[in-house]
Amino acid sequence: MKKSVLLLAVCLLLAFAGAAQQDQSHFDGKSWWSYVKVLADDNMEGRETGSAGLKRAEAYVVEQLKSNGLQPAGSNGFYQPVKFESRTLDEKNSSLALVRNGKAEPLALGNDAIFSTRIDLAPSVEAPLVFVGYGMDVPEKNYSDLAGLDLKGKVAVIMAGSPAEIPGALSSHYQSPSERWKTFKKAGAVGFVTVLNPASMDIPWSRIAVNRLHPSMSLQGKEFDETAGEQTSITFNPEKAGKLFEGSGHTFKEILDIAKDRKQLPRFPLAVSIQAKTKVIKEAVESANIVARLPGNDPQLKNEYVVLSAHIDHIGIGEPINGDKIYNGAMDNGSGSAVLLDVAASLKKSPEKLKRSLLFVFVTGEEKGLLGSKYFTEHPTVKPGSMVADINIDMFLPIVPLKVLTVYGLNESDLADMAQQVAESKGVKVQADPEPQRNAFIRSDQYNFIRHGIPALAMQVGYEKDSPEQKLFKDWRTQRYHAPSDDLNQPVDLGAAGNYEEIIRGLMVTAANDSGRPQWKQESFFKRYAEHGGGQ
Ligand SMILES: [Zn+2]
Repeated sequence: MKKSVLLLAVCLLLAFAGAAQQDQSHFDGKSWWSYVKVLADDNMEGRETGSAGLKRAEAYVVEQLKSNGLQPAGSNGFYQPVKFESRTLDEKNSSLALVRNGKAEPLALGNDAIFSTRIDLAPSVEAPLVFVGYGMDVPEKNYSDLAGLDLKGKVAVIMAGSPAEIPGALSSHYQSPSERWKTFKKAGAVGFVTVLNPASMDIPWSRIAVNRLHPSMSLQGKEFDETAGEQTSITFNPEKAGKLFEGSGHTFKEILDIAKDRKQLPRFPLAVSIQAKTKVIKEAVESANIVARLPGNDPQLKNEYVVLSAHIDHIGIGEPINGDKIYNGAMDNGSGSAVLLDVAASLKKSPEKLKRSLLFVFVTGEEKGLLGSKYFTEHPTVKPGSMVADINIDMFLPIVPLKVLTVYGLNESDLADMAQQVAESKGVKVQADPEPQRNAFIRSDQYNFIRHGIPALAMQVGYEKDSPEQKLFKDWRTQRYHAPSDDLNQPVDLGAAGNYEEIIRGLMVTAANDSGRPQWKQESFFKRYAEHGGGQ
């Protein structure tokens, strides 16, 4: 008797618990974290593009996708192989100097400046320097930093950042390496020195410098080389930038003061030339994107795809910081890859009626310059033109409760309107990028979808301006972004992660079932890519 009462009580309790769970969100953050724990484990060695660690992480992802009933949609099962060339600077055989009145003043690589091997550096460059302000030409706004300057055969010195008068999406676009080079190549320039702007530096110089010999990569194939003809690319430590300006009639302090308020900068020739000698070691590397499909049911619309993308690569093993050399990339971007897996699992557990199909894309080579997504959008494994939207997740940072959602690409497409509706229906406020000068809109894989005419956006856990949360995010970037401490021993807000996933899932389902394909807004700058066919 007693026993059966107890049993009944237990049964009732279980039934209640079950009902309560059903009413609640699909996601509690715990399942998400269980995926992050695998992807950011030391065993994955920081998931560097082409590494054995990344291959292990990808094999795990494929297993999970299979067990959740997704179909392979790569070119080789779930995989789409991608070929790279890696480039490492041989620093012992490289040097950098300023030349003033015919006399060379050597610069210390690491301390003063570093070479970027993202471009195919010419072995030897000597050229006069011209300061070009932010180095931006924005015809749509009649704005030109290049107007009236003679740049033929010269190296342009750029202050990182953008003038406040140029809207965020537009200024991001014109600061992308390919757009920028297009403009300067036309003006006859041969390279860049970029002076970092202390007002918008994510990572302190010391951390940038310590990993300067980490290999860069580019996609194999001439068609992917958007910086052909660029001979040199140098990043300058702002604390040492004063020497660039000596004798020019301007000081670096004066430039910094104007740049801090994002006002228009003066532009003028400098009194020094740059002398760069480099030796670069090149190697072939192979990696892969992962593509999986969840088919829709509408006889017509099932041939269209709503894409959910995230980069799975990170930066691997680097210089030790506090004795730790594994750059685990738990938030960057184990967190985003885990959302894809968790959403896939939840759609198996509680299926939805879907008209369009869903495509889950895990891209490689993001940290090398959005390369995996560049390859995928150029060579999609589904029919060209069939991808109607991309929702990209990169480092969504659930480190505070999700009250505000930052949408990159808000006001650009009705996909963003959809995201806003879904978020607000769950009691989450939506805001545009509060820090457009950080260029987040072009700094992750959504940008390659945008360049192929596909309405795209990215979303992150947001914060109000000047709030205590803003400081938390800033500290996170300074201390953990691209550091070994972006690992499993950091505080995360599981509730925020779960709520974020709920919005992602809601947006996927809404976009999959909407009667029309998402469209760029009439006034959106990015609409032009869709109109020109966007290479779809
Ligand atoms: Zn990153």
